[in-house]
Amino acid sequence: MPRSGAEARNELFRAAWRGPHVAVTAAAVGSGPKTLGTREARDKLLEVEGLRVAYGAILALRGVTLSVGKGEVVALIGANGAGKSSTLRAVSGMLRPAAGQIRLEGENITGLKSNLLVPKGMAHAPEGRGIFLNLTVQENLELGAYLRRDAAGIEKDAEYCFKLFPQLRERRKQVCATLSGGEQQMLAISRALMSHPKLLLMDEPSLGLAPQLVETIFRTLREVNQRGVSILLVEQNAHLALSLAHYGYVLETGEVVMAGPGRELLASPEVRRAYLGE
Ligand code: ATP
Repeated sequence: MPRSGAEARNELFRAAWRGPHVAVTAAAVGSGPKTLGTREARDKLLEVEGLRVAYGAILALRGVTLSVGKGEVVALIGANGAGKSSTLRAVSGMLRPAAGQIRLEGENITGLKSNLLVPKGMAHAPEGRGIFLNLTVQENLELGAYLRRDAAGIEKDAEYCFKLFPQLRERRKQVCATLSGGEQQMLAISRALMSHPKLLLMDEPSLGLAPQLVETIFRTLREVNQRGVSILLVEQNAHLALSLAHYGYVLETGEVVMAGPGRELLASPEVRRAYLGE
């Protein structure tokens, strides 16, 4: 039976980590992830420590520790099933961790539900977009701002989203089920931005999109970050993610096996062999 691209990539990824480089990763000898380079000093926005997530008997995360600094873009890369989405879901309160601690600006937010995290400045654009397909573009944007009372600010932010993605302005009265995949992704990002977040959790923004659209989305994420929003980005396209990210983590079967500045991870032989087919 022919294998899917994702299966082939997973195999490549596993093979790369089984290769000679495994012997030099600290994770392989039980002393934590291999860490490359130095990280720019920043105040901490998000801290995740020893995060464990289980789905029944399946342990998806086996003690993930990572952080996002203020103003930082952090990428989480790894093969299918490594635990990237589970990490985001636990951070955004969509699921309750089995163990570990999550802190936002020093406050313990472990186990808090999404509705309590949004007013604290966290927004999640989940894999599969998470928008309401039976509502219009405008209604989805309004839902993104449902906790806000500053009508003028909401209007200003909607205007900002329409500037980022002019297609959405043209379609503001259109029901979302009729939008293209790319437009739905634009709306998912816009809806998350409407809550005025400090931290944006982005799950697979490139999934299913044509290369030109992917470029637009990533350009927009850079712009959003330059306006001061920190981003924790889960992405299969390691090249794109690490090119954008100040810092990155490599997840393998529920554990961080490697960490470092985006460009240093991009240059590392393990990452290049696993993701860039070298
Ligand atoms: P992908 O890129 O395929 O989404 P991922 O790195 O985001 O992969 P997760 O979706 O977090 O990985 O999955 C981690 C592990 O948890 C996998 O083994 C997956 O099969 C399992 N898993 C995820 N969601 C569930 C669920 N709802 N029920 C049972 N197991 C799950």
